[in-house]
Amino acid sequence: MVTGWHRPTWIEVNGDAIRANITNEKAHLPAETAVWAVVKANAYGHGIIEVAKIAKSAGADGFCVAILDEALALREAGFTSELILVLGAVPAEYANLAAEKQISLTLFDENWLTELPVLTAKLSLHVKLDTGMGRLGFRNGEALKRVSTKLAEQPLLEWEGIYTHFATADQKDTTYYEEQLAKFEGLFSEIKPRPRFVHVANSSAALLHDQTGFNAVRFGIAMYGLTPSDEIADILPFELQPALSLYTKIVQVKQLQAGDCVSYGATYQAAQEEWVATLPIGYADGWIRKYTGFSLLVEGEYAEIVGRVCMDQLIIRLPRYYPVGTKVTLIGKSGEKQITAEEAARKIETIDYEVTCLLSERIPRIYN
Ligand SMILES: *Cc1c(COP(=O)(O)O)cnc(C)c1O
Repeated sequence: MVTGWHRPTWIEVNGDAIRANITNEKAHLPAETAVWAVVKANAYGHGIIEVAKIAKSAGADGFCVAILDEALALREAGFTSELILVLGAVPAEYANLAAEKQISLTLFDENWLTELPVLTAKLSLHVKLDTGMGRLGFRNGEALKRVSTKLAEQPLLEWEGIYTHFATADQKDTTYYEEQLAKFEGLFSEIKPRPRFVHVANSSAALLHDQTGFNAVRFGIAMYGLTPSDEIADILPFELQPALSLYTKIVQVKQLQAGDCVSYGATYQAAQEEWVATLPIGYADGWIRKYTGFSLLVEGEYAEIVGRVCMDQLIIRLPRYYPVGTKVTLIGKSGEKQITAEEAARKIETIDYEVTCLLSERIPRIYN
């Protein structure tokens, strides 16, 4: 097990899968297109520092994160020279901290520039255009022109990149995607000189749309081997290899008689004599209450979660007796069968992104 951890519930991250997804994407992209590994949110639950190491070993050219603290953690861990871009809004008061650590920030609003403290080092900025996502970014050419002028006047501000983000790149209907792309190209055409990096693609755009003319992609969900959406799962250019498995072990086994109940609210009642097992994982680990009724795998056989999921534990109905210590698969392969994060997502009516992001820091992660 992992040193420093003392619980029989763990995540295994397969580094080869992450490396294969990056290598396949690199081969799919035009030559010279940089792949930036998106490692925000603890690398979508996979573990930021270890995933960053794996991604770098597979040729990732930089990293994207959501908040400044994630960027600082990467620098602290020894990623001293790679490009690190913070995609989210960093309060202007922290600009010097970013500048000193050579962390690139997103410029999405004119006011942010006026709030900047006196800079003590060069700060690199990626200007974000809101072409239809409606989240962060400049929406018109006038503001963009004023910003160009301001950036040109300030020698300690480096205009390193320009980018946008798509709202519907994970859908088969490309109408809205094309509208966003046209808006981006319209706004971008007014800017001179061209910044070093021009990037638009998240995983789905990087997989499905030609990246000629752009020189970096922000590769997130697909790097982890997870599909950006069920809708495009059948039109991906190569097979994604899921990296994350989630396991636990049975800590107690008991035989219920007809009429016996389990867990809070006594909502589940055995209809006949049956074996159930208690597992040491619950909603505080990110395995939320909505998973009641979902089936896990015990030695290649399905075992349904019965009764309410507790904070730290849950109960499954076994197809037959299994001893304490038997391994149980929540996500991953067991015998001939497999539970995918996509299947788990369907059960709790969400997307695979949320399933793995939810897995809390208190679950140890093993890398192999
Ligand atoms: C999270 C994020 C990405 C990565 O998206 P995936 O769908 O996971 O590839 C790219 N760009 C921005 C701006 C993001 O916020």
